[in-house]
Amino acid sequence: MPLTELIIDGFKSFAEKTKIQFDTGITGIVGPNGSGKSNITEAIRWVMGESSAKSLRGSNMKDVIFAGSEFRKPANHAEVSLIFDNKKRELNFKDDKVVVTRRILRSGDNEYLINKRNVRQKDVRALFLDSGISQDSLAIISQGRVDQILNSRPEERRSLFEEAAGVLHFKKQKEEAAVQLKQTTENLIRINDLVKELA
Ligand code: ATP
Repeated sequence: MPLTELIIDGFKSFAEKTKIQFDTGITGIVGPNGSGKSNITEAIRWVMGESSAKSLRGSNMKDVIFAGSEFRKPANHAEVSLIFDNKKRELNFKDDKVVVTRRILRSGDNEYLINKRNVRQKDVRALFLDSGISQDSLAIISQGRVDQILNSRPEERRSLFEEAAGVLHFKKQKEEAAVQLKQTTENLIRINDLVKELA
């Protein structure tokens, strides 16, 4: 599922709309300290549904919006798009090209789009989980992550394998179904109590 292009606009240090094209093979991004290399991987994780501001080195999700500089006003929104070549249908989506976009406004309003149609965060996560990747997966390895993986407990490491094998998605569905089942059982108990009272 090749990522062919990344478009960053108003996200962290990317004040101007910036397009990064990924050709086949390995793409290296080089630059001096503090020039925004890590912001690129964070932008990718953000679109994939990252919900922890802390893991994006901020205290609030709105911190991802370009905060302004000596010569430039702060941006009023941040928007990042990931463009995938889906000719081999590695993403469970009907189109040859899949554009996943996330946008956040200064008001805190946050939206996700898949091929320009509004979707829920859940839908974006499901799209990636189905193909065995997520914002926490080994597809994106940030600084310090290798040490963290090597030092992780066996059950944490197991979840990485489950994700790579595409099992995690089913585990999430099972957890959601278990919550619904519990709610339904509680509702049934309440209805039975009411029936008994009325009888
Ligand atoms: P290193 O090589 O040291 O790891 P890097 O190239 O990975 O650095 P990043 O950590 O990606 O650099 O970028 C840090 C820069 O991003 C800092 O200059 C910081 O001020 C800037 N930055 C982060 N958030 C924002 C924001 N919301 N608005 C403007 N600039 C931001």
